[in-house]
Amino acid sequence: MDIFYRSTRGSERRVRASEAILQGLAEDGGLYVPERIPVLDKTLEEFSRMDYRQTAYEVMKLLLTDYTREELQDCIRKAYDDKFDTDRIAPLKEADGAYYLELFHGRTIAFKDMALSILPHLMTTAAAKNHVKQEIVILTATSGDTGKAALAGFADVEGTRIMVFYPKNGVSPIQEKQMVTQQGKNTRVVGIYGNFDDAQTGVKRLFSDPALASCMAEKGFCFSSANSINIGRLVPQIVYYVYAYAQLLHAGRIQNGQKINVVVPTGNFGNILAAYYAKKMGLPIGRLICASNDNKVLYDFLTSGVYDRNREFILTSSPSMDILISSNLERLIYHIAGDDPQKNAALMEELGRTGRYAVTEEMKKGLSDFYGNYATQKECADRIRTLYEKTGYLVDTHTAVASAVYEKFREEIKDDAVTVIVSTASPFKFTRSVMSALDPAYESKEDFALVDELSRISGVAIPGAIREIRTAPVLHDIQCEKDQMEDAVRDFLGL
Ligand SMILES: *Cc1c(COP(=O)(O)O)cnc(C)c1O
Repeated sequence: MDIFYRSTRGSERRVRASEAILQGLAEDGGLYVPERIPVLDKTLEEFSRMDYRQTAYEVMKLLLTDYTREELQDCIRKAYDDKFDTDRIAPLKEADGAYYLELFHGRTIAFKDMALSILPHLMTTAAAKNHVKQEIVILTATSGDTGKAALAGFADVEGTRIMVFYPKNGVSPIQEKQMVTQQGKNTRVVGIYGNFDDAQTGVKRLFSDPALASCMAEKGFCFSSANSINIGRLVPQIVYYVYAYAQLLHAGRIQNGQKINVVVPTGNFGNILAAYYAKKMGLPIGRLICASNDNKVLYDFLTSGVYDRNREFILTSSPSMDILISSNLERLIYHIAGDDPQKNAALMEELGRTGRYAVTEEMKKGLSDFYGNYATQKECADRIRTLYEKTGYLVDTHTAVASAVYEKFREEIKDDAVTVIVSTASPFKFTRSVMSALDPAYESKEDFALVDELSRISGVAIPGAIREIRTAPVLHDIQCEKDQMEDAVRDFLGL
C-alpha cells in the first residue's frame, strides 16, 4: 500500500516519498511525516538471517513506496558497500552488561554516515523520477558530524551542490579539519560566528525565503536539505534498529519477541525518533532512553511536558548534542497530538514566539515510551574511564553520555531488559576529550600524538578518515557573521 507524506503543520497537499525527500522541508515550514506507519512484513526470525543490505531493503520499501524495487536496491547497493570498514556495517559489541551498536564504521566515522551514504542516491533518483531539471543545492547546518558526512556523500555527485555552515568555535578540531579539507568541485564550507542553533535557524530561514527561491529558480537551482528534517535521513535510520534486534536474536542473546531497551545519545532527536518509528512498525522495543548532555532541554521536556529553550547554551565535550532546538521533536509532538497538524502548528508558533511551549496532559501520555536523563561533562568523562578500566572498551564522548545515562536508568528504574546503547561516533573523532578523560596528563599533547596513543591503548587501528586529514590541505577558509549567510549562498551559486 502506498504511503504518503504530509506536513506536521497541515499544508493540504500530501506528497509521495520521493517528493518529500526532494523538498526536505514542507512549504509551510513543517516536517514531512508518513500519514500511516506501516508494519514490518517480514518476521523477526526472517530478519535474523538477513545482512544489512537486505534488512535495509525490507524496511525502507515499506516507507519509500514510490521507489521501485530496482531503484531502492540500487541506492542501497551504492550506499552500504566498502565505504564501510566492516561487512556488518553496524556491528554490536558487548561491554559491561550492554550491547553497543557501533554506527561509526562509515566514511566519516560518525553515525550520520548511516543515512548520508544513501541520501544522495535517494535524492538523485527522486529528481529523475520527478523530472527535476534544476541543480539541487544542499544547504546544511551542522553541529559537526552531519556536515562532513553530507559533504562526503554529495561531493562530486552530478546534479548537486553542497554548502555546509558550522559554528566556527563549536566543533572539535578534528571535526573542523575533516570539513575544511573536503574535496569536490561542488562543495563549500563556511564557519559562522554563532552556535549551532544560529546556523540551523539561518538555514531554515534561507529555505523559506521566497525572494531567494525565485532568484535561484531563474538560475536553475533549487534547495534541498540533508539535515535530519529530511525524511530521507530518518527512514534509513530505522534500519539499524531492526538489524540490531535481529543480530541479538541471531546470536541467541534474546528470545523471539523479547523486548529490548535502546539508549540514544540525542541532539536533534532524529536518531531516537527512528527508534520510535521502529517500535511503531512492530519491533519489540521497551523503553526509548533519551540521553542528553548539559543542554538538557529534552530531559526537562520528558519529565515536565514543558519545552523551554530559554536557557544558556553550553559548549560541551559532546558537541554534536549541543542543541537547544531539537527539530525532529516536532514530528513526535505531531504524533502525540494524535497526528493533528493544527495542535502541532500552534505549539511550534508558540516556540518561535516565546521559545517555550507546554503539552497537554493527554499528549504527555504519548511520551510514556520514553525515559529521559542527562550526564554532565564530568559524568561523561568518568564513564569513559570506568568503562575502559573495567572492559578495555573505549567509547567517544557522545556514546559515553548514553552509557552514563543508562547507568542512571538502571539505578533508578531497576529495569534489566537487554539493552542496546547506540554508539554514534568513533573515539578517534573526539580524541582529545576521550584521552583527557582517561588521564589529564594527556591534555598537553598534540592532537595527532593523541591519535597514535589512542590506537595503542585501545588496540584499534587508526581509521582511514583520520589518517587522511593528517596531511590534507585546507581547501575551505571562509567565515561569516550569522546574518550574512544569504550572501555566502549567493556567492557560492553566483547569484
Ligand atoms: C548527530 C549526533 C548525535 C545526535 O543525533 P540526533 O539524531 O541529532 O539526535 C549524537 N552523537 C553524534 C556523534 C552525532 O553526530
